[in-house]
Amino acid sequence: MSTRPKIFVVYTGGTIGMRKTSRGYQPESGYLQQLIDQVPRFADPEVPHFEIDEFDPLLDSSDMTPAHWLDIAERIRRNYAAYDGFLVIHGTDTMAFTAAALSFMLEDLGKPVILTGSQIPLEETRNDAQANLLTALMILGRHHRDLAEVMIYFDSLLLRGNRARKVSVGSFDAFSSPNYPPLGRVGIEIGIDWPRVLPPRAARPEPAEIAVVELGRATVAAYRLFPGLKPAQLSAMLAPPVQGVVLECYGTGNAPTADPEFMRVIQAATEAGVVIVAVTQPLRGSANLELYATGRALFDAGVVSGYDLTTEAALAKLFYLFEKGYGAGLVKELMQRPLVGELTLPGAADDKLAELTPWTIEDRELSERREH
Ligand code: ASP
Repeated sequence: MSTRPKIFVVYTGGTIGMRKTSRGYQPESGYLQQLIDQVPRFADPEVPHFEIDEFDPLLDSSDMTPAHWLDIAERIRRNYAAYDGFLVIHGTDTMAFTAAALSFMLEDLGKPVILTGSQIPLEETRNDAQANLLTALMILGRHHRDLAEVMIYFDSLLLRGNRARKVSVGSFDAFSSPNYPPLGRVGIEIGIDWPRVLPPRAARPEPAEIAVVELGRATVAAYRLFPGLKPAQLSAMLAPPVQGVVLECYGTGNAPTADPEFMRVIQAATEAGVVIVAVTQPLRGSANLELYATGRALFDAGVVSGYDLTTEAALAKLFYLFEKGYGAGLVKELMQRPLVGELTLPGAADDKLAELTPWTIEDRELSERREH
């Protein structure tokens, strides 16, 4: 019997398995498997054994919805006990959103989940698909006992999923995690930066099953500030039924707070119970509302600092916290605490990141404060 690790592959679609047609690249059922079967390297003993479970229909990831996130998570949950790790093959366009969502949805995760895809389909002679797939599989095979988080592997970088962003449309290094160092770099060696990795939740017995939290039922949104915005537009966006909004601010969390109408709109929304989380527009850095007077005015109006959360992670986290049934006060508080390594508090030592997880926050503390 084979002792090779077993990897379960959820193939959702994306460029990687697409076929060139007269209407441009399109996903086609069974085609990726067919291409893989033609490459003997995928059967090399160094590559773990893997089985592909294909979405029907396969998606361009721009069509990905929270219902698809749930479909991915459920496929992982159903196969959790039988496999050592999980690979999600996904289009690049919304891969960072899905990775962030899965990092919150898969509670109790004790095995690695890696998302990958490619910029050029596997069918092309010159492609990044083969290297991304083979390396992601080999990382899962080698390190399935030590990695227990949702990650993206792309063009030599292993990134924490809820820190990753798509940063390039045209080059192979399409992903980066600007506010957190890569978990691993692949060159001649596969190097993992172990102190950066979330420790497997070893304190508790490894669960044979994982829980899946459905996301997408809350009403959340993201809004990017720009010079010339009309507060009335913002007001329409903050109106019911919205529960949480990621406000993409300038710099360290600044906004046109000299405009009384803008401030009135923000204040009215937070008073009505909308959770507004400030993140920063620049790729790198942190929104901390307590640094500048304009940020402070937002803080005083009830906006919370999202620090270095990506918009993708902030949206997923809002979905998650509202799904848990928490009221606005607790959602605000937890938005400012790292739950699964998704944010760094100012001055926090990186190695302390993993300490606070939703699974270490006392259930009692939360249930007492749950407002339905
Ligand atoms: N539009 C494609 C997708 O996200 C792009 C890709 O896979 O690179 O599915």
